[in-house]
Amino acid sequence: MLKVTDVGKAYGKFTALEDINLEVADGEFLAIMGPSGSGKSTLINILGLLDQSYTGEYLLEDKSYKDVNDNELSQIRGDQLGFVFQNFKLLTTYSVYENIEVPLIYSKKAQHNKHELVADVIKKVGLDGKEKNLPSELSGGQQQRVAIARAIVNRPKLIIADEPTGALDSKTSKEIMDIFTKLNQAGTTIIMVTHDSEVAEYAMRTVYIRDGHLYNDEKSVKNHD
Ligand code: ADP
Ligand code: ADP
Repeated sequence: MLKVTDVGKAYGKFTALEDINLEVADGEFLAIMGPSGSGKSTLINILGLLDQSYTGEYLLEDKSYKDVNDNELSQIRGDQLGFVFQNFKLLTTYSVYENIEVPLIYSKKAQHNKHELVADVIKKVGLDGKEKNLPSELSGGQQQRVAIARAIVNRPKLIIADEPTGALDSKTSKEIMDIFTKLNQAGTTIIMVTHDSEVAEYAMRTVYIRDGHLYNDEKSVKNHD
């Protein structure tokens, strides 16, 4: 699915990422863990084609997008990637249905079956009956279900989730992780940032970031200290 080779990122003189090497296979479910400020968001911004100013090489399905213009990039993000955030980032004046429909409006994929696509993902995340509600009328867990439905409505190859359970209690977190697990079992590749080791256990593999360096297991982080 993707390959990161010797990637580095600096904000001015500050090195946020250094010597990052990572491969994620099709169908994997990867968790990225690390303390606040360690570089997790910086890394997933690169993986999600939101940040093009890095050194080294990043290939998504064998293709570099480094010299692709912003219009093309947003098209590719919309068609191939699904994003889920800690704070849901829903449109507050749009209904559940309308929020989920948004990516289809901008998609270049064929969409004569737009209504079926939306109805299908509403069922998948268990929001039947909530189509007309506004986000403010829903619980946090339900809002995250809307965000997940919006992320998958375009059938992306890769879901990037940044602390998807960060705002949820542990029971609701489990429900959300069960949805991610089902999506992964159906073939979607998932990369998830989390602080929570219980949440990370849903992933097939966990990597750790500390001070801008990536480690394959917790032991190697400790050996490095
Ligand atoms: P995490 O997601 O693990 O909390 P970030 O990737 O957000 O970490 O940040 C990594 C480091 O880079 C932090 O020290 C942060 O303060 C710094 N940083 C992030 N974004 C910027 C920016 N736009 N300008 C300067 N420093 C930044
Ligand atoms: P997260 O909770 O995902 O780690 P943060 O709260 O660290 O996110 O950062 C939110 C935004 O602020 C990001 O876009 C990040 O790039 C930016 N940012 C983080 N640290 C700094 C910094 N020291 N200077 C400027 N921008 C920063």
